[in-house]
Parts: sequence; structure tokens; C-alpha cells
Amino acid sequence: MKKNDIFEIEITGTTDDGDGVGRFDGMAVFVPYTLLGEKVRGIIVKVMKNYAFGKLLEVIEPSPSRIKAECEYFYKCGGCRFWNTEYEKELEYKTQKVKDCLERLGRISAEVRPVVGCERVKGYRNKGQFPVSKDGIGIYAQHSHRVVDVNRCIIQGDENPRVLAAVRSWMTKHGIEPYDEETGSGSLRHIYTRSGDSGILVCIVTATAKLPFEKELVDELRAGVEGLSGALQNINDKKTNVVLGKKFRTLWGQDHLIDSIGDLKFKISPLSFYQVNKEQTKVLYDKAKEFAALSGKEVVWDLYCGIGTIGQYMAGTAKKVVGIEVVPQAIENAKENMRLNGIQNAEYYCGTAEAIAPKLRGEKPDVVILDPPRKGCEESLLKTVARTEPKRIVYVSCKPSTLARDLRVLEDLGYKTVAVQPVDMFPRTPHVECCVLLCRTQHSSI
Ligand code: SAH
Repeated sequence: MKKNDIFEIEITGTTDDGDGVGRFDGMAVFVPYTLLGEKVRGIIVKVMKNYAFGKLLEVIEPSPSRIKAECEYFYKCGGCRFWNTEYEKELEYKTQKVKDCLERLGRISAEVRPVVGCERVKGYRNKGQFPVSKDGIGIYAQHSHRVVDVNRCIIQGDENPRVLAAVRSWMTKHGIEPYDEETGSGSLRHIYTRSGDSGILVCIVTATAKLPFEKELVDELRAGVEGLSGALQNINDKKTNVVLGKKFRTLWGQDHLIDSIGDLKFKISPLSFYQVNKEQTKVLYDKAKEFAALSGKEVVWDLYCGIGTIGQYMAGTAKKVVGIEVVPQAIENAKENMRLNGIQNAEYYCGTAEAIAPKLRGEKPDVVILDPPRKGCEESLLKTVARTEPKRIVYVSCKPSTLARDLRVLEDLGYKTVAVQPVDMFPRTPHVECCVLLCRTQHSSI
């Protein structure tokens, strides 16, 4: 097989990223934008040792689940994967992806419940990050740092086309240039937006401290973005893929958001993590609360607690909540959120869960919540948790493969995976969230 070979294959599988896979010339070929069961014609674009990448040329026999993509950028943008697929099929794929990961990567035999779908597949996202480059302002193409120019993103809220239009207009009027990593010229790196009950925050990320025509930028945003509650500058002068730097400057209005989940209110600083889909966050937290099955007597550890959301959601039925989180601003928010919510039985520690948890003195936890980022938990933390012998562990995960790996470690430490509930937090993208209950079966051997 070589580059530019034309192939006709049947799509027999779907990858972790939502791309179709078939076999050609004895090799697996990954073909983006194809659906399970379709017969397609394509061209080989890259050959690796054991597999190849193809580009779709023609769908010869379409899947009955194929639909016309609603997003005009779908076939270029790397954000979503399922706009050409009926939502029901996407949900089936997500349930299956979790099952496959748990079985194959973790040898976990627990039943995986069908994913809970989201009522809104558009406009659900409360956060946007648009890279600014010489190719335009938009979203990265798949597996790439090439920017696809977009005027709106339909999974995000209504404000995003207005924010983009306002920033574009300001850039054009005042000759503002994107930052060029190679030459170091220009300054604009990203447009970062977040929205919540209190309004819309827009943050302009620059490579240099100087922000030219800043008053004009604020005027343009205030005139164009209904519901704007704050305009910020963030300075990121590092050579990095991380969007935000550490330094913020308030240009206008508020420097944080307030949002609510259920009856609770949360203050969110721009550097603090907050779930992107509010409606489904409630579904997820309700499930975590159900799995925690608190009676009012339990000590709960909320590890990777962010701004304290999950622990505070359960604090009313716990004896005490102990939160650990590595981002200092998030811990500050968590403490303020205790006050906002009238919660007195929580305490917070800033640092990594793996460093702080082994040092915690006092009562052992009865229930431990784990909600790590995509890379999952350090093995040493899982051992620390097992050693404290909580009755139940509730693991909230945004990546099935690392979840599977960590569940295997916990099973080997005397915990049994009892229930797995995937929740669709990210419709139209290949990502899927899971809430998992583990129960202790024996005394820990370490
Ligand atoms: N439970 C929260 C946050 C989950 S996101 C919520 O539902 O909103 C994961 C969080 O883990 C982020 O806030 C991130 O800053 C934090 N984090 C990442 N690595 C960590 C580590 N090693 N120890 C503690 N917290 C960590």
C-alpha cells in the first residue's frame, strides 16, 4: 500500500476519536467522517507501519444513520465528530466505547448502563477557546495546530458569534495582528469565553503585556455582546499549547462568573475548572450523589475537587467533606463557595491529591470521590485511597481508557466495580463522561 492508492472498503469499526475504520490490503485504514457499516471509496493519505490514514472520496453505500451535517464547518473542524450521524447512533457508539475500554483495557466485567443523552445537542457549551493565527480565528483541525477559520461554533452558546465578530472588527479597525510563534511578532493568541448565570466573560489572551487599543476593544465587546459581564486580558508569554497564562488583568466589569447547579451557587475564576455542560453536570452530580449513598454520618474525600462542586453538592448529607485540588484559584473559589452555599462541614487543601492525601490526619474517609483530568490518577494515590479503606469510591472520569486502567488497579486493591453510568456531556464530539461506583470487597492488602 502506498500514498494516493484508491481504495473501496467497508467500515467495520470506529476509533476512539470517532473515525471509521476498515481494512484494505491487509491493513487497518482510518477514514474520518465515515460511519459503521458504510461502503466507501477513498484515497490513502499516509501509510504507517501497521495502519494507514485515508481520506473519504465517496460514500458508495451510506449508513441509514447518516444525516446532513448541520454545522457548516464540520468537515474541516477538529472539534466535533458526529454531525453527520443521528444522535441515537452517536449514543450507541459512546456506550460501546465505554464497554470496549473497560473490557479490553481494564478486564472489568461490570455492566455498563446505556449513556444518558443530552436534550440539547447544540448551544450546550459554556466555554469557548478560539486560537488566533494568520490562518484566521477559529478551532484547530483534527490532530493539528492548523486553525480553521469560523464565525460561530454551534455547540457553544449564542454569544460566541457575537464575541468573534466584535474581536474581528476591533482587529481590522486597529490593525491588531495575531501572535506568530516563529517570528515573535504580533500579540493576539486566543479568545477565551465563559458564560454562566451572572453573564459572559471574554478574555483576550496575548503574548505580550501590552494590549493596544484596549478601550476600543472593551467598547466593541460591550456594544456587540449582549450579557457581557466582564472583559479580561490574560498574558501568556510562554511557548506552550496551554491556552491561559497565569497573569490576568480586568479591562472592564467582573473578573469571575457565578453559576448555579441545582440549589447551589458557585463562583468560578477563569483559571478554575468548571464543567462545560451545565444541564448534564446536574445529571452527573445527581448520579455521583446517588452512588455515594450518604446517610449524614460519612466523611467524604472530594479529590480533584476544582471549585468544590461535587463535594458541596453532597455536603448536606455528609458529616464532613475534605477537598483536594492543585489549582490555587480553584481552592480559593471552593472556600468562597462554602460561604455562598452556607456550608460549614467542608475543608480544602491545595496541592496534588497524590501528595496531600497520604498526609491527611483525622478520620478516615467512608466515601472517596475521584474526578481526575483525562490522564487519570497516579497509582500511588489509588493505593493511598485503598489503604484508608473507604466503603465506596465514586470515580468520575472524562476518559474511558484511563478510567479502565485505574479501575483495574482499584480492583486489584480490593474494590469491585459495581455500576458504570456514562453521561453524554459533549454531544457531537467523541468524548464521553462516566460515573462509576466501586465497593470494597475485602480488607486492603497494602
Ligand atoms: N470535580 C471538579 C473538577 C474536576 S476536573 C468538578 O466537577 O468541577 C479535574 C480537576 O483536577 C481540575 O480542577 C484540575 O485542576 C485538578 N487536578 C489536576 N491534577 C491534579 C492533581 N494531581 N491533584 C489534584 N488536583 C488535580
